[in-house]
Amino acid sequence: MNKPDYEDQLLNTPYPKPDAYGSLSMPVYNAAAYEFKSAADMEAAFCGQTTEHTYSRISNPTVQYFEERVKQISGAFGVTALNSGMAAISNVFMSIAWSGANIITSNYLFGNTYSFFANTLKAFDVEVRFCDLTNEKDIRDNIDDNTCAIFLEIITNPQMEVVDLKSVSAIAREKHVPVIADTTLISFSAFSAKNFGVDIEVVSGTKYISGGATSIGGLIIDYAAFDWAKNRRLNPLAKEHGNCAFHYKLRKEIHRNFGAYMDPRTAYLQTMGLETMHLRYEKQSQTCLQLAKRLQTLPGIESVNYTGLPDNPFFELSCRQFGKTPGAMLTFNLESKEACFQFLDKLKSIRRATNLFDNKSLAIHPASTIYGNFSQSQRDEMNVSSKTIRLSVGLESADFLLEDIKQALATVVC
Ligand SMILES: *Cc1c(COP(=O)(O)O)cnc(C)c1O
Repeated sequence: MNKPDYEDQLLNTPYPKPDAYGSLSMPVYNAAAYEFKSAADMEAAFCGQTTEHTYSRISNPTVQYFEERVKQISGAFGVTALNSGMAAISNVFMSIAWSGANIITSNYLFGNTYSFFANTLKAFDVEVRFCDLTNEKDIRDNIDDNTCAIFLEIITNPQMEVVDLKSVSAIAREKHVPVIADTTLISFSAFSAKNFGVDIEVVSGTKYISGGATSIGGLIIDYAAFDWAKNRRLNPLAKEHGNCAFHYKLRKEIHRNFGAYMDPRTAYLQTMGLETMHLRYEKQSQTCLQLAKRLQTLPGIESVNYTGLPDNPFFELSCRQFGKTPGAMLTFNLESKEACFQFLDKLKSIRRATNLFDNKSLAIHPASTIYGNFSQSQRDEMNVSSKTIRLSVGLESADFLLEDIKQALATVVC
């Protein structure tokens, strides 16, 4: 995506109706319901003949404007804003899976996504097949007639594995299975999922989009590129709606029934966040690369994991897919869990907190927190080491962050 186009699109998406007061930002319509001039208008709106809003669990002007802006810059067919990244992921699978279906994925997954697959969906007889998504044969061998999707994270957290999206999407096309990608770790200002064969993109808006961790939100971005006649659940709808069957199912049934639509105040905050996301992303990712390089030289740090480092096994693939500065998250290993705890306790400026891509830098020990309730064997399978610290780089300078890291390390090393 080239930059002037991106910014011009982003800042010039018109409102669907002129604002009565000429407000420069979309007002927050904190309304539950909407009034109609006549019973006939009401019937038309409720039955989908017109696009008037009826009730804010279904659609809301402020949320719709946020969706429209994302749609303009992503080139998607349909965008749905939900009240968390997890709501986005669960709404997708509630729309496409069926009892007896299976999902091809890796066990390198965000903790709640893993739990949603392994615990929640399992109760409804949806099987999850944890594969090595860097191994084409493993993917092929696991796909069968009941496969409803390949699901992946574009850079896994905290393992930092990168899957070759073009090769996975080629297998998916050949086998008539959609590719669903969680793209939270790379901002869509720097990466076009559509160009890499992703059919449905899910994003936790809580991260880069929210503009400094202002709110929890999620997006489903649908490129209407998949022939849903090939999906057993959506096949009947595909006869009428073709590649738009997923969007139709989601908007007319699933998101209404699950009731996790985005709140208008969140949509306002995330619309504001979207306007500066590309600038924050660029700065935070550049700082992250600088830090990654310098951390490699520090005593006490056993290894640094960032796919923008030339000696990283995913470096070339990561450059091809995400450019030279692949996001603002890195991990590094110290000699033990105890060393990690000591290090975290000594940090003065970097905050001890979960979350990613806040304006402030955040550090966490994933094994004892995000994966704290997993068994040791699950953590081993997921390659979540007790020696790993995860750092989300904010808007501070690399020098400032490095000073803090050095002083905290000094207490661990001696
Ligand atoms: C945070 C995150 C999620 C979940 O998003 P929420 O907004 O917290 O529900 C999903 N995937 C990834 C990769 C994340 O980092």
